[in-house]
Amino acid sequence: MSKPPLQLPVIQNWGCHNCGGCCREHLIEITEDEKRRIEKQGWTAADGVSMARPVIQQIARNRYRLAHQDDGACVFLDERGLCRIHAKFGEPAKPLACRVYPYAVHPAGPQELTVSLRFSCPSVVQNLGPSIASQTAALGQLSREIVAGKHRDHDPPLIHDVPPHGIQQGHWPDFHRFLTALDDGVADDSVDLVVRLMRILAWLELVEQSQFKTIRGAKLDDFLSLVTGAAVKAQPDNDLPIHRPNRMSRIMFRLLAAQYARHDTEALVRGGIRTRVSLLNAALRFTTGLGHVPTLHESASVSRVFGDSSAGDLTKASHAVRFSDLESHYGGRRRDIDELLTRYLRVKIQGIHFCGPAQFQTSLLDGFRGLTLMYPIVMWLARLRAARRGAKQLDLADVQASLATADHNYGYSPALGTRSALNRVSLLSPMKQLTSLLSWYSQ
Ligand code: SF4
Repeated sequence: MSKPPLQLPVIQNWGCHNCGGCCREHLIEITEDEKRRIEKQGWTAADGVSMARPVIQQIARNRYRLAHQDDGACVFLDERGLCRIHAKFGEPAKPLACRVYPYAVHPAGPQELTVSLRFSCPSVVQNLGPSIASQTAALGQLSREIVAGKHRDHDPPLIHDVPPHGIQQGHWPDFHRFLTALDDGVADDSVDLVVRLMRILAWLELVEQSQFKTIRGAKLDDFLSLVTGAAVKAQPDNDLPIHRPNRMSRIMFRLLAAQYARHDTEALVRGGIRTRVSLLNAALRFTTGLGHVPTLHESASVSRVFGDSSAGDLTKASHAVRFSDLESHYGGRRRDIDELLTRYLRVKIQGIHFCGPAQFQTSLLDGFRGLTLMYPIVMWLARLRAARRGAKQLDLADVQASLATADHNYGYSPALGTRSALNRVSLLSPMKQLTSLLSWYSQ
């Protein structure tokens, strides 16, 4: 199975549309070389850069990041939403973290890399810009810079933490066989996306229980075709049984949704004790699920690009949404929503952005379950957005905005990488609650 050294998600387009969101919503850590380079650039107030505080902050021993303006924007962002480093010295003079976003590059085999994208970028969510395939040369150069001097051959992520007897772990060609089966399963649009996800969860469970002596190479292909075929037979069409998730899984789900909805900006980090108390208060309300849903702040770029849901202002009674309001039908199983979320899932699968080093070292099985959980989380957040304007039907923009919000944290929020957060995800599966959450919030 020969593969090009750099695999690209050819189903995706992207180009920067200067929304400035990444320069307002991300904390940019820089290397010591980049620190020296920026210091040599000799920024002064005459360039429009505030000298009220140093442009570079030390956050730990040998760790630095760019300072922020009072409104949370990067110290180098100008009034038009453009980067002053880029304008004065050109794109290569910017920190690598700025140049890489919204790409994410992961190991895909011996001396091979694969590219995924972060859907926190509104242009990625909307599939705007030239095809990724047309950016091969630029991405090749960027990838070389990312791995420069530190590339080593990684083992593939584990298939399962407790390996099914006989399935070979640590073998890239077999790992890619699993990826292909997942990707094919998600791409099969003969049924609704939620049905495809149910089928995949069913065959992953068969993999988990398998007791074969050795399964690898062509035998693994046969085995995967057998289990995927069995899963299709078990759920042949869109006639899904709908079960309300039980109380315990609803609590775990709400807590995870709250983590995915968090938007920790520089301003929030600086917020102090009052901010921490209000976050604790919100966590308690998410646990009980009673009364009104606490304030959730969308990022400025998400509100600007996808329309303002007034998500941050719950002081007006007309915007108050009760947790119970989010449990009815919102007309969610629609082709346009399915297409968006299918593209999202396929980019994450092809870019190995759901397990291994990209996802707190989780195995392929647990990682895919976590990725599947993004479906009900995004749909729940989209319901909240729709409910805040009094709508009973989702707009595509509700789902796009919710996906951008949740993916900002997916694989990146340290709170989602804690043992308790990862346990919540793996506990939902054996309880059959992951499938209940999928079907319930697909309505
Ligand atoms: S250095 Fe430039 S590109 Fe990077 S965050 Fe600041 S303004 Fe944005």
